[in-house]
Amino acid sequence: MAREFADPRVVADAQRYALEYLAASGERNIFPTPDAIAALDAFDEPLPQGPGDAHEILEQLHRVGGPATVNQIGGRYFGFVNGSVVPVGLAAKQLASVWDQNAATYASSPLCSRLETVVEGWLRELFGMPEGTVAGFVSGSSIATLCGLAAARYRLLARLGWDVNERGLRESPALRIVTGDQAHASVAKAINLLGFGQACVDPVATDDQGRLRLDRLPPLDDRTLLILQAGNVCTGSFDPIAEAVARAREASAWVHVDGAFGLWAAVSPGLASLTRGIEDADSLTADAHKTLNTPYDNGVVLCRDRAALAEAMKFSGSYLPNDTHRNGMAYTPEMSRRSRVVELWATMRYLGRSGMDELVSGLHDRAVQFAEELAAAGFRVLNDVVFNQVLVACEDDEATRATLAAVQASGECWCGGAVWRERAAIRVSVSSWVTSPEDVTRSVAAFEAAREAVAG
Ligand SMILES: *Cc1c(COP(=O)(O)O)cnc(C)c1O
Repeated sequence: MAREFADPRVVADAQRYALEYLAASGERNIFPTPDAIAALDAFDEPLPQGPGDAHEILEQLHRVGGPATVNQIGGRYFGFVNGSVVPVGLAAKQLASVWDQNAATYASSPLCSRLETVVEGWLRELFGMPEGTVAGFVSGSSIATLCGLAAARYRLLARLGWDVNERGLRESPALRIVTGDQAHASVAKAINLLGFGQACVDPVATDDQGRLRLDRLPPLDDRTLLILQAGNVCTGSFDPIAEAVARAREASAWVHVDGAFGLWAAVSPGLASLTRGIEDADSLTADAHKTLNTPYDNGVVLCRDRAALAEAMKFSGSYLPNDTHRNGMAYTPEMSRRSRVVELWATMRYLGRSGMDELVSGLHDRAVQFAEELAAAGFRVLNDVVFNQVLVACEDDEATRATLAAVQASGECWCGGAVWRERAAIRVSVSSWVTSPEDVTRSVAAFEAAREAVAG
């Protein structure tokens, strides 16, 4: 086998293709064309008998793979809450890819260990969490929520004299989980993975924007895990965090805030009232790959109770380090991990406070513009645009679904669908720093053209 992974020309190939891709991102279709998807058949090859040519492999990836990507780094992708990438984060990721660090421990990467400590401090400061709050750097909010709830499970049971690591859940004191009926699907998944099951969940009714209703919040106690949401995936709305957190603390309940994309409102003075109260929560989750526009995958769990998270993620082994350095794997379910903190550090270091504010408030401004222009064009905007989400519908469900399909096929922009209060809706998630006012206007024109095509 040729030792091509030591061949700098292969890396140069990748660099060249990447630059070509970036240069064309403004005009490429947002969702790949049917032809580009059909061409993926080229990957249906039998497993090769032996080594191939690295240059050819990269060329195939560029030629066949590139055109079949979803163009979400440009300004007109509004699906899910995906976000784009700030260039410095993208470049840092490329550089760090070459380093191929394992962020598990100090021994495997002193660099990652140090950057995790630095970014942990910055995040603590941004979200107003006290000294001693620990951050775990994970793939995304699904895992971050799993971590937060695992820490809660450990601590609530420990206070009741039960070590869940030793004794498990089968005979443990019962815990109760209280959360809005609009909690994200990943919350239910974490609850199931942790062995609670949905039978432990006491769902709280939400209002017309999907916010937990305080007047429906049951009495809380020291066996309760309250899960709040900062940013509903359909409406972008925020639970009344400060009031609910105050009640939880009063009752010695644990409170976790799922702020996958919405927690970043806290970095923007104009939007920070939405997240008021997070500083008093026990654990928080946020996705930098969403609102902060870092590359994938960049989720964070912040936990006020360092020992609870460390106990919940406990590991041991004679070959593992037991030292005073920060070992990132002590706060995450994984051991081996890529060096995602490098691009998070680079993005925060680059943007600074004012850059983060500009990014996040810019998403809000574009969302407001989107809603206004859609409404002016005769679409129905179903939500109050408090953050970056716009929920929109046509005159009836059939027209909404058909219009959405036509928008998705247009190549002009891409949005997802949802059902909101039993009504078909189109979700517009403004999550890319690249999105300009012109991109919004052009996308609204695509909505109008789609609606006309459907009607005609
Ligand atoms: C995206 C999202 C999640 C899941 O995050 P991943 O990073 O995809 O694992 C959880 N909660 C909310 C509100 C989200 O928007």
